[in-house]
Amino acid sequence: MTKHNFEAETGRILELLTHSIYSNKEIFLRELISNAADAIDKARLRSLTDTTFLWDDVDFKIVVEADDTKNIITISDNGIGMTKDELVSHLGTIAKSGTKEFVEKLQKAKEDWEHNLIGQFWVGFYSSFMVADKVEVYSKSALDTKAHKWSSNGKSEYSVEELEGDDFPRWTRVVLYVDEANKELVHDWKLKELIKKYSNYVGVPIMMREYDSRTAEEKQKEEKVMPFEQINETKPIWKKDKKDITLEEYKAFYQSVSNDWNEPLFTIHNNVEWMVSYKSILFSPREVNMYQNLADPHLEYGPKLYVQNVLILEHAKELLPIWLRFVSWVIETNDLPLNISREMLQDNTTLDKIKKWLTKKVISELASTMKNKREDYVKFWSNYGKVVKEGIHYEYDLKTDIAGVSLFKWINNSELISLDEYLEKSPEKEIEVELEWKKETKKEKTIYYIIAKSESEALASPYLAQFRDKNIDVLVLTDPIDSFLVQWFTEYKEAKLVSITSWDIELEEKTAEQKKEKEEKQKSMKWLFELAKNTIWAEKIEEVVLNDNLWNALWALKTPKNGIDPQLEKMMKAMGQEVPTQKRILELNSKNPLVESMKTEFEHDMKSEKLSDIISYAYMQAVLLEWWELENPAAFVDLTNKFAKWYIG
Ligand code: ADP
Repeated sequence: MTKHNFEAETGRILELLTHSIYSNKEIFLRELISNAADAIDKARLRSLTDTTFLWDDVDFKIVVEADDTKNIITISDNGIGMTKDELVSHLGTIAKSGTKEFVEKLQKAKEDWEHNLIGQFWVGFYSSFMVADKVEVYSKSALDTKAHKWSSNGKSEYSVEELEGDDFPRWTRVVLYVDEANKELVHDWKLKELIKKYSNYVGVPIMMREYDSRTAEEKQKEEKVMPFEQINETKPIWKKDKKDITLEEYKAFYQSVSNDWNEPLFTIHNNVEWMVSYKSILFSPREVNMYQNLADPHLEYGPKLYVQNVLILEHAKELLPIWLRFVSWVIETNDLPLNISREMLQDNTTLDKIKKWLTKKVISELASTMKNKREDYVKFWSNYGKVVKEGIHYEYDLKTDIAGVSLFKWINNSELISLDEYLEKSPEKEIEVELEWKKETKKEKTIYYIIAKSESEALASPYLAQFRDKNIDVLVLTDPIDSFLVQWFTEYKEAKLVSITSWDIELEEKTAEQKKEKEEKQKSMKWLFELAKNTIWAEKIEEVVLNDNLWNALWALKTPKNGIDPQLEKMMKAMGQEVPTQKRILELNSKNPLVESMKTEFEHDMKSEKLSDIISYAYMQAVLLEWWELENPAAFVDLTNKFAKWYIG
């Protein structure tokens, strides 16, 4: 017998679980049954390529037994089994990726971990220590000639020993020595109830002894071993008729495939017998799922793929576009060969059709949830919106539909808005379009946005002034992906998407007279423009122009046509990409009273130091308002001090 210590994290989890007062302890059975069913799936899959592997033990089942005189519950299966090394590596360490996070969270929020946290995490095999003070796992792998016993009291260590003689090809038996506090679980009727509740659709028969209805006296008189009966339904839930499935059943199945503890946001259950036949159930989550790190490039996603009752792939990512990687999905088709390989999946037109169809279906479900269950959708969006928006990039044909189910922040509103809702509220503008033979007016709408890190950052932009004055809504795009998307997603249902900092926004068509007036004013400011160009780094400024809608700033910076937005530039640089320096358009606020004073100063002394200081300072302010970085913060500090000195004396 060898003794081993649990790895540190596992030890901590075990300590918490053994002292747990978590009320939903009964989930231990679901966890152990699910492990047994997985082991059977693995054995089935392996037997496809290794025909001798099963021997004659092909009658797959899970057997649950309770001995209420000794407080023992046993769960046995004839799945793949574990070798000695596997017992050590699988049961001595925590396998789930979310578990580290679990431990960290627990440590931070000790007081409410009991009720809120445990239920949210799937601690798998270790949940047995919530109800038992000793657990033994007997197992024999088909790849081993010997069986082994793993044993632990859930404290710091466990032991593994070899067992003598065993003729069975493969099996695993988990024996729980249930503690006093939980002995009410050790009854056949109770276990049957739990199996029905949590494990009805595991896809493998779960067997228990039939109920012995005789009186105690009769039982004493004659010992009788009751035959086994099947407790669960083995017809997989996706093969059942929708109308025979309750919401509770869907929920339980969702939880078992997703590791999520919530209800699904929506469920798509289909049974298609057309050009291709398949049965499938797909679920969307509601809130964030600890086990899905959607930013992880190695995340395993895609449906469980069954062919003729055999689980062929745990994650058939070929069937799911990457931007839907948050859904949980199970699909079974008999139109594929059992020996299908990943390569075959990639170029399979049948699967391609399923993929396209389901993608559309998910989008339409998202649309109807957005419409009919707005509150739920907003929550969903706050968790998964960033990922859904990737679809605008990936799905050329469906990008408008995906944009249509997207929600955005907008200035001065705590609620999110969709593009259609934005368009409903936004005014139409008549524009002239020149056709070959005549001019025509056309009505057009524009979706205005600003890219910023947050709403408060957006609110600082001098360019918002004219939108506020005219009561025109502006979307605030705050996700990093947004600045990439708007580079090519420039139109939504014939409405243009326009950044409020882009070069040529005229909210109001100017009369010829107004235009002329502006031109003249522009000319009369030539001196200031020249001065500005020479004072400020000329290589950064493409053009200097007037703008009479700049709120209280003196200068503001705009992106020229086809230029790179400042936020995008910042992000590309942060990612280490080479970005050419983008020249900006410097705009002067003609309404700022400082302009007049500057003019007087200029007439007095063309080379005035004060003047060039004010110009530089105002430019730095414009840079700051854009949330750019100042090239030379020390110069900014010097100037500020200089002004302070003038001011205070
Ligand atoms: P998970 O099932 O999420 O991987 P667990 O802690 O419940 O996490 O189990 C750890 C591992 O132990 C499993 O991944 C599996 O490899 C192995 N295991 C558990 N139960 C069995 C079983 N009944 N038969 C074979 N292997 C098992």
